[in-house]
Amino acid sequence: MKYRAVKGMNDILPEEAERFALVERTFRATVERLGFRELRTPIVEELGLFHKSTGETSEVVQKQMFLLDREREKLALRPEGTPSAARVYIGQSQWAKEPITKWYYIGPMFRAEQPQRGRYRQFHQAGCELYGDPGPLADAEMMHMLYRMTVELGLVGTTLELNSLGGSEARVEYRQRLKAFFSAKLETLSPHAIERLEDNPLRILDSKDPRDIAASEGAPILLDCLSEEDKTHFGEVCAALDELGTPYRVNPRLVRGLDYYTRTCFEISAQTGEIGSQNAILGGGRYDNMIAALGGENVPAIGFAMGLERILLAMPEAKTQSSSLCFFAPLGARAGRAALKLADQLRTQGLTVEVDGRDTSLKAKLRRANSLAAHVAVVLGETELDAGQAQLKLLAEHAQKDVPLSELVETVVRAFEGVRTP
Ligand code: AMP
Repeated sequence: MKYRAVKGMNDILPEEAERFALVERTFRATVERLGFRELRTPIVEELGLFHKSTGETSEVVQKQMFLLDREREKLALRPEGTPSAARVYIGQSQWAKEPITKWYYIGPMFRAEQPQRGRYRQFHQAGCELYGDPGPLADAEMMHMLYRMTVELGLVGTTLELNSLGGSEARVEYRQRLKAFFSAKLETLSPHAIERLEDNPLRILDSKDPRDIAASEGAPILLDCLSEEDKTHFGEVCAALDELGTPYRVNPRLVRGLDYYTRTCFEISAQTGEIGSQNAILGGGRYDNMIAALGGENVPAIGFAMGLERILLAMPEAKTQSSSLCFFAPLGARAGRAALKLADQLRTQGLTVEVDGRDTSLKAKLRRANSLAAHVAVVLGETELDAGQAQLKLLAEHAQKDVPLSELVETVVRAFEGVRTP
């Protein structure tokens, strides 16, 4: 019997893992430049945490949780990172808390979805959480940082869309208006939307069902229900984005799937690449009531999560080519030992070096150097050793030269100048 990976949970082979690592490095560098620090939390949490924060009426909690029943404990694999971070934040003693806390996380998330391209049951998110700053500048700076990151990753045709969901009062009023609007069109809605009408009519706007999309035509707009404070906040977010030169589009229909959002919410999608219908690469927003709802103090929060698989689908191939390699092809035991020593010196200079110590022909070794796309290959045989030199092959240029062993490290390092290394 051959075992396979569970449906929708993918093995990530080395070539793909290198692409993941590249995105993760860019993410870390970007967010660390704004003062975010890494938080690592367990993959398993108490189920109740997600009920309380992700929300009872969210699609994720209602349909997509991976549950673990351990005697009397009700546990779940995390479907997102925000609830765990909030749990840690609340659990800290009051005195350990700074007025503003900035955390980021990277890791696997689990949702029992119907797998398709760009939608998996185990996927990876990188996200940030910022606690303690209710101001619009925090929102604008976070979105601008994300826009910059998409440029650095080489993503083209990306769109940043944003909306304001207002505070709880605006939401209550909007819910009522939506309920009245959709109740008048009951017979045209999908059965799923009819179920949502009672508990969360906002989600009907999120539906991909053509019947619901048609029925949503002319639906009330949330921006019309905002309080004066909400409107001022949103106006200042937009003004700061304008000042920073961040391209964005206000989308009054953007609601986002999780229950906890208040005021600003945003999404970035990629229009190009292979991504097809799953084109949202990240989403986030403000959740000013969540910490208090989870038993903490009244602390505002804002955050986002981006899907690493989605980013990779949207990224141009050239951006993720693996780094360059120096390859040693020694012939014989004495040359093998000399190669290990030279390789060690080159690695301390920061190069990636492989020594092919197999007892095979030079031809077989060079074939491997080519298939690994090595930048240079060093051939070292008994004759070369006796003459105190090695043969250096510059594979990309189809050139070769003999180099004295005493100058080899320096010459190889020079050959890598301007070549991208990890
Ligand atoms: P969410 O936590 O639902 O707001 O999603 C944030 C981002 O995570 C989305 O924009 C996607 O890029 C990614 N994402 C969410 N669900 C999945 C999934 N099942 N498979 C792959 N990526 C996902």
